[in-house]
Amino acid sequence: MIQLNGTAGAPGIALGTVVILRKPVVSENKPCLNAPAELQRFEAARLECVEKTIKLHTDLLEHNDDEAKIVKAYKMILDDLVFISPIQKEITNGTSAEDAVALQVEKLSSVFAVMKTDYMRQRADDIRHVGNMLTQTLQGCNDFQLPEEPSILVSEDLSPVDTLRINRNYLAGIVTQFGGRTSHTVILAKTIGIPAVTGVSNVLEKFSDAETAIIDGTTGDVYLDPDASTIVNYYKRIDREKALAEKVRESQHVAGRTLDDVDIQICANVGGEQDMKPLEDIAYDGIGLFRTEFVFGRFSRYPTFEEQYEAYSEVVKKAEGRPVIIRTLDIGGDKDLAYFELPKEENPFLGYRAVRVCLDREQIFLDQLMAILAAGACGKAKIMFPMITEMSEFVACKRLVAKAKNLLQDRKIPFDEDIHIGIMVETPASAVLADRFATVCDFVSIGTNDLTQYVTCTDRANPNIQKLYNPYNPAVIRLIGNTIRSARQAGIEAGVCGELAGELNFIPLLVGFGVNKLSMSPALIEKVRYLVCRLNQREMSRLSDQVLNIDDPYEIESLVTSVSERALAI
Ligand code: PEP
Ligand code: MG
Repeated sequence: MIQLNGTAGAPGIALGTVVILRKPVVSENKPCLNAPAELQRFEAARLECVEKTIKLHTDLLEHNDDEAKIVKAYKMILDDLVFISPIQKEITNGTSAEDAVALQVEKLSSVFAVMKTDYMRQRADDIRHVGNMLTQTLQGCNDFQLPEEPSILVSEDLSPVDTLRINRNYLAGIVTQFGGRTSHTVILAKTIGIPAVTGVSNVLEKFSDAETAIIDGTTGDVYLDPDASTIVNYYKRIDREKALAEKVRESQHVAGRTLDDVDIQICANVGGEQDMKPLEDIAYDGIGLFRTEFVFGRFSRYPTFEEQYEAYSEVVKKAEGRPVIIRTLDIGGDKDLAYFELPKEENPFLGYRAVRVCLDREQIFLDQLMAILAAGACGKAKIMFPMITEMSEFVACKRLVAKAKNLLQDRKIPFDEDIHIGIMVETPASAVLADRFATVCDFVSIGTNDLTQYVTCTDRANPNIQKLYNPYNPAVIRLIGNTIRSARQAGIEAGVCGELAGELNFIPLLVGFGVNKLSMSPALIEKVRYLVCRLNQREMSRLSDQVLNIDDPYEIESLVTSVSERALAI
């Protein structure tokens, strides 16, 4: 079995036969001996594609507005002279139709790919998809059959037209290399109701020898040729998911309150305004983590104060008065942005990352802090600093917040004077010193992804040591407990915003330690709230004490899993 890690796309879990969809190969510099005939061949292919999109659009209008819009955009590209004319010109100059299409797609999509907004960048996907459709038609390869069994479709990139050619009865999940969390692949997978994982690098090569795969669209995990125990776990999860989904559906829109009346806020992790859409239809208590790297990632240079203000205030406004915890930039580690020109490092996770970089680039940091402070005037924002290891770093960060406030005052820009300031507890140092930090912070939020990595000395992306990356390691649990209890003793809010906040089996422990806030991917909110409402905080507190005396991570996991399953009654 091989484990891969991609980006969580559409939620859910699926097991199926691996089916690879390869794009048509264009042999560059294929000679074109008869330009007028080649022009005719191109025109015939273009018209066939136009016809195909018109038919698809009509079919889709009846039952899927999102897909219909995408297909309409394809037709517009196929009719657009800006797209067609350079291809025709290239063919007239002696290039084959396939090569001319490939050249134009490359040229146009690279222009869109570097544009500022997600929306514009995804027009690059549209152009690539139209190019593929044209090339497939030129090469007469229109048919693609899935075997008549649950299938995991693997492709570098998938267009709606690709998915529409496929018999959806057998489509169990999708894995792609290109396409982000707002890509059409993900939109389509969500619409069909199947899981999708995107962002798997060299996807065709990695899947080339695999026969079956399990994909988890909620976490981004992929297991190639899963072993027996992974398959058994998969079936267990499927049964649980089905039973749970049924119950959760019946109990929407209640507050996150335990059986003994302890309120726990259930919040969402987002990367920008685009992630707020799924929250429109569900109850939630705020944004527990706004990862601002996604805002910086939309630019090919440092975003200005104004650009950041727009991005943050959009989320704050959409949260309609609910608190939004905005984490300052966590660049470095596995998150690189070319324009930061960070040095290449031997151990990036132990290197120049997050506040370590920001404190060295004061003006960039001030712009961000000013933007967060000003966004706070549109609703309720809080500032959270990542990767803090020493009190001096937090003091320096706070000093810059004070400076940012002065600058805003000078510029007469409204901002939240009383903004809450906290830290992300994700280094062992800050977790050990939680009682000290709790005296100077307004809140803390535990980043369990990094905390687990740093406490167990296990690179979370290294497949050889995944067994050790175990949040049930008692050392991790002890530090989580220490952090939550220290914060509560000091009377400040204790949150968790790493993946464990959405991990149903782990939640009894967090509730037992006294967590006030759980923040997770929007897709998990309703399930988590359902569980929280079925736990008794006092009982969970006793459970947490009991767990602190167990040495074996697997014994801990099985104990708390049984508590969670009992509470969910599945
Ligand atoms: C974490 O470390 O738990 C966390 C939420 O931050 P990120 O995953 O963005 O590093
Ligand atoms: Mg982190």
